[in-house]
Amino acid sequence: MNNNKNFRSKFINSLRNQGIKNELILDILAAIPRELFIEPALRTRAYDHDALPIGCNQTISSPYIVAKMSEIIFERDNMGSVLEIGTGCGYQTAVLSSLFNDVVSIERIEALHLRAKKTLASLNFDNVTLIYGDGYEGCTKQSYFDAIILTAAPKVIPDKLLNQLNENGRMILPLHAGGSQKLFRLKKTKNGIHKKDIDDVRFVPMLEGKA
Ligand code: SAH
Repeated sequence: MNNNKNFRSKFINSLRNQGIKNELILDILAAIPRELFIEPALRTRAYDHDALPIGCNQTISSPYIVAKMSEIIFERDNMGSVLEIGTGCGYQTAVLSSLFNDVVSIERIEALHLRAKKTLASLNFDNVTLIYGDGYEGCTKQSYFDAIILTAAPKVIPDKLLNQLNENGRMILPLHAGGSQKLFRLKKTKNGIHKKDIDDVRFVPMLEGKA
């Protein structure tokens, strides 16, 4: 795409202006070709700040939300394994792949799972395992993770996912609260779960079963 470099540096500056401070995360976002994760017809909008449709009634999260969630999940000395629920087009997965040693990502819509698999393989993100399944069931391939990120909103924190967090692990998730949603950061400690309210957000609902 023409002027791609230009688009990307504007894109990064505007994320910085919106309050994203972690330069490692900004560098990672600058390096990933976001246009390859979205429908060809929408590619000219790849570096806009909107959530865009990715088919199957789902949306790719806005770049700000991807950067913000990545910033919240970042802990300099604890970037081993991460489980993502809601692969979607795989863009957040790609960002996680550059931040963590190992990434597992689960998607309940087969068409999206297959498309993300193709995109991520073509870009050589090879520390990623993609699973077609229901995130409410947790991950059957690996027992524990240092971090878990949900990109779809459940009504309550799924127990099976909480059980898969290592001690000192953290979980980032949008949760339904009345008519709206809030983003939370949970930290599992010896003394229990600490929950921090981050912001108002709007994600697609986390649905049960495969589609
Ligand atoms: N990070 C993705 C967000 C996609 S939207 C992106 O930027 O593309 C959220 C995704 O969560 C959708 O693809 C939806 O199908 C998926 N999802 C919803 N409920 C799920 C569940 N129970 N298990 C796995 N994926 C789920």
